Formats: sequence, structure tokens, C-alpha cells
Amino acid sequence: MGHRGGGVTPEQLFEPRSRVRPVPDDLSATCFDVIVIGGGINGCGIARDAAMRGLRVLLLEQRDIGSGTTAWSTRLIHGGLRYLEYGDVRLVRESLHERERLRRIAPHLVRPLRFVIPVYAGSRRNLLTIRSGLLAYDLLAGCGTTSRSLMLSRSQLTDSEPGLAHDGLRGAASYFDAQVTFPERLALENALSAQEHGACIVTYARVTRILPRRDGKVTLHIHDLLTGERLTAHGQVVVNATGPWVDATLGRQGGAALIGGTRGSHLIVERFSGAPQAAIYAEARTDHRPFFVIPWNGRYLVGTTDVQHAGDPADAIATRSEVDYLLTQTNRLFPDARLGVGNIVRTYAGVRPLPVTDARTTAAITRRHSIHHHRGAFDRVISLVGGKLTTYRLLAEQVTDRIFALLGLRDPGCATASQPLPGARPNPNARITYALPPSQYARLRSIYGSRTGFAPRHAGETLLAEVAFAFQLELAETAEDVILRRTMRGLSSDSGFDLLDTVVPAAAALLGWDARRQAIERSTYARYVQRFAVPGPAGNTPLDVESSA
Ligand SMILES: Cc1cc2nc3c(=O)[nH]c(=O)nc-3n(C[C@H](O)[C@H](O)[C@H](O)COP(=O)(O)OP(=O)(O)OC[C@H]3O[C@@H](n4cnc5c(N)ncnc54)[C@H](O)[C@@H]3O)c2cc1C
Repeated sequence: MGHRGGGVTPEQLFEPRSRVRPVPDDLSATCFDVIVIGGGINGCGIARDAAMRGLRVLLLEQRDIGSGTTAWSTRLIHGGLRYLEYGDVRLVRESLHERERLRRIAPHLVRPLRFVIPVYAGSRRNLLTIRSGLLAYDLLAGCGTTSRSLMLSRSQLTDSEPGLAHDGLRGAASYFDAQVTFPERLALENALSAQEHGACIVTYARVTRILPRRDGKVTLHIHDLLTGERLTAHGQVVVNATGPWVDATLGRQGGAALIGGTRGSHLIVERFSGAPQAAIYAEARTDHRPFFVIPWNGRYLVGTTDVQHAGDPADAIATRSEVDYLLTQTNRLFPDARLGVGNIVRTYAGVRPLPVTDARTTAAITRRHSIHHHRGAFDRVISLVGGKLTTYRLLAEQVTDRIFALLGLRDPGCATASQPLPGARPNPNARITYALPPSQYARLRSIYGSRTGFAPRHAGETLLAEVAFAFQLELAETAEDVILRRTMRGLSSDSGFDLLDTVVPAAAALLGWDARRQAIERSTYARYVQRFAVPGPAGNTPLDVESSA
């Protein structure tokens, strides 16, 4: 069964999966043109572009597609207004143009979002500074589809956002950027598109060693984390797109460290008293750092912090001091909110794959990406440093151009700026779900776009169909993949535990999971979601936070 999306019939969806893992038997017999390590937004974007240009591509991901930094972001597709303060006009212009491209190729996933910047007496940035910044922002955006910014008087603001603190309020600015509610799925749709163009995608496959060969090719040692098998793969060029793991992936042969990651933490809270209509981009009262309170998936996303992070990025969790900081800032901005730890639905944290730098503050470290072409024995290896969700497509285009130059092949050119992602293509099957209640249909559209046509005609069967779709056609291998990164239902409930009772038996029927595997899936899920819990009181932990997006 191919990865066609909406074309599958309900009967096919529930047939046992013919192939347990999509690992080709002859993996080590093929020499791929390019092997991409890392299935985050950047790795998936590169796999898509390279496959669309006709290269033989292998993508290896140690966990699930989009399960790394991509899932731990603030989920904005934005120009980065604050980068103007650091004079990074090129990054802002590129990001704004990419924002418009992503809205065209994935309108179901990337949607416009209105921001309000309130200005108070004593704010570091006054109304005039913000106005000039937004004028530049509008100009750099060009004639895109997103509306222009405007200034709001104090009374206009208190009319539209009555919950904001009134004391010392001077006025505000309003402008549009965009939100990707589920960046996990943006990465996935890139992976699915790559697969449609012939790429081989293997998840739960950790690269343990990169071995340059005398003949100019590169051999990778791989640990299949689902079967325990040791595999090898060979490629002409290897792209190390492992985000904050870039140095760990290179190992000791990699030379000087490339990444100096900083942790950013977020809170998810229920709608609170005085909650805003728009996304609020505010300056923290205590330390003047920027932070966001953003309507997200029926709740509010509050973030973020910017703290030096040591240790494995996979272990990053929000510390209690970060949680307290974010709660304090939100309560100052929305006095009726009175949020406490008990109001937090979950927390999450990720490590930005930023470059090693001697910048004075973490906020000053550039968010621009760089493409690091190694020399010497590793001259067929390219590592990626930094970047944003927003600019992943551009990064992928630049990396794929570089691969063609390295291989000395004729480059047919990049088409990803105009070719819609799978869920944005016209699909006549989408209409069969019209019998669903409008809210359920809207939820499915916001996740699967035009591929919603797979869903059954009756609301009661939707969950089962989504689970089957995830395992059959969306590269899911574990219960956690399905709950947290395919159906996205685990992000809407408190923990997603309730879904295990549907997902695990369905997987047993489709994939033949035995009792032991079912038990492992349940306990692995329970362990994984512990990271979302609010940490206990921090004792003497200092308030070690810097906030920015
Ligand atoms: C707190 C925070 C907020 C952010 N907010 C925004 C925002 O609002 N907007 C924006 O545009 N950007 C934002 N970013 C930046 C953006 O999220 C990242 O730049 C982007 O997600 C990086 O994607 P990536 O594919 O390079 O890395 P990742 O998503 O981390 O992907 C790397 C993948 O490599 C895999 N991997 C690691 N080692 C191996 C191995 N040995 N073998 C196989 N696979 C391996 C990992 O499992 C992982 O899935 C934010 C980042 C953070 C941390």
C-alpha cells in the first residue's frame, strides 16, 4: 500500500500491515546519493527537496519524525520582529518571504495569527520604536497576503483586550504573523512527500557512527531501536540534520563543537480569566525580556525562556524556576488570571540548535542557519547549525543545491516553494467526511488538510480510522507516535493515557503486537509523558532565565 493519503478505502485501512518495518532488505546493498540523518523539520525538508530533484535519498531518524526540537518550539512561522534590533534585516526578509510560501504550500497547517504588543510606562521599547520596527517589518514583507500592522490607542486596546493590565498602559501595536499549530505534522508532510518521490524513510534508526571510506563514499552504522538489529547504509553524501545533537552525531571525529544550545521552556494553560483574543507579545516587567501568551489548540501557550543547556537535549524539561518566571509574567500582564501551578496542563522544553558563540546574552545569538561543510576525511559530510522552523524550506533548498554541486550532477532545480504539501493538494475524497459534525470535520482538516478523505463517515469511528491511517500511511511505529504526533489527540487531552486503550489494541490487530510489546508500549508512553509534568519546587535554584522566541 503506497502513501497516497486520501485515496485509501476504509477496508484497506484496517487490513493488517503487510510489512512490519519499512526497512528495505537490501538497505546496505544500495548506495544512496544522499543520506539525511535526523527527521526534524530540516531533515524532512531536505529529504523532500532532494527526492523531488530525483536523488536517491535515505532519511534516518532515531525516534519519530518531528519528535525533537521541532515539537518543542513556540510554533510560530514568523519574520522575527526582534531580530531587527540586532540588525539582522536579511534574516527577517527571508523569514517573511518563507512565511508566505509556507502559507501557500501548507495552508491547513500554517495559519495567520494576529499579534498585539502592549506598551507600558517604563517599557524598554516605546511606541515610536515599535512603530518604526513594524514599518520596516511591513516593508520587508513586501506585498504578501498578510495584513499590515497598525497602532492602537490605549482605549482601542482595552476594548479589544480588556484582560490586559491597565496600569501604565500607553498603547499598543497590532500586526500579523503565522502559527503552525502542529509543526510535528509539517515535518511529517515533508517526509511523506519525500517518500512519494522515492525516498526511503526509516524511523527509530539511530546513527551510531559515520565512517568516511577510501572510495569517497560514507558508511553509516545504524542501531535499529525497535528490533535491536545493527545495520549499515552507504551514501555519496551525508547530511547531519540532527539539530541540537549535531556534535553528538559527529562523535569525537567531528572536531570543535558546532552547537551551543539554549533551552526554551513553555507552559500550556487552559483559557483563563482575561485571556486575550490575539497573541500577546509582551515585555516581561521584571527583566524587560520578550515573552508570548498565544492562543493555541483551544488553550494558551506561554513562553519562552532562553537558558544555556548542558546534557542530552532529549532530557530537556522546564525547570521550576522557569515555570515560576513564566507564571509571574503572565499574572502581571493579566491581573485577573491568577494562574498557579495547578492551572498548568503541561510544560515542555527544547534546546535550540544555536551556534557556539561568545555573544553576551543568549538572546543575541543569531537565529540564522549555517551549512557547515566538513573538510578532510569528512568532506562528504554536511552539518547544519541553527535555523528556525520558518526558514526550513529555504535551508533545504540551499543544502540540496550544495549536494548537487558536490555530486557534480545536473540540477533540475528546486520546486518546493510552489509544490503544495500532501494535505494541501486538491482531493475529491475529502467530501466523504461531510457527514461529520462541523467541529470534528474542522479538527480533521486542521490536521490532515485535504487528506481528511480517509476518515469514516460516522463520527464514532473517527479515532480508530485515524489510528489505522497513522500506522498504515503516516510512518507511525509506536503508540506515542500516534497519540502525540499523528492524531494530535494527546496534545488536546491532559496526557493522552485514555487513548492507549484504543491505539494499543488497534496496533495489535494491524501490526501483530504481542502481549509483551503491548505492555512495553504502555509503560514507555507513561514514562515519556512524565516530562510534561510541572517540576517540584526548585529549592535554591536561581532564577536562571532569559526569555525570547
Ligand atoms: C524553545 C524553542 C522555541 C522555538 N520557537 C520557534 C518558533 O516559534 N518559530 C521558529 O521558526 N523556530 C522556532 N524554534 C527553532 C526551531 O524549532 C528549530 O530551529 C528547528 O525545529 C530545528 O529543526 P531540526 O530539524 O534542525 O532539529 P530537530 O527537530 O531537533 O530534529 C533533529 C532530529 O535528529 C534526530 N537525531 C538526533 N541524533 C540522531 C542520530 N544519531 N541518528 C538519527 N537521528 C538522530 C532527533 O531525534 C531529531 O528528531 C524554536 C526552538 C526552541 C528550542
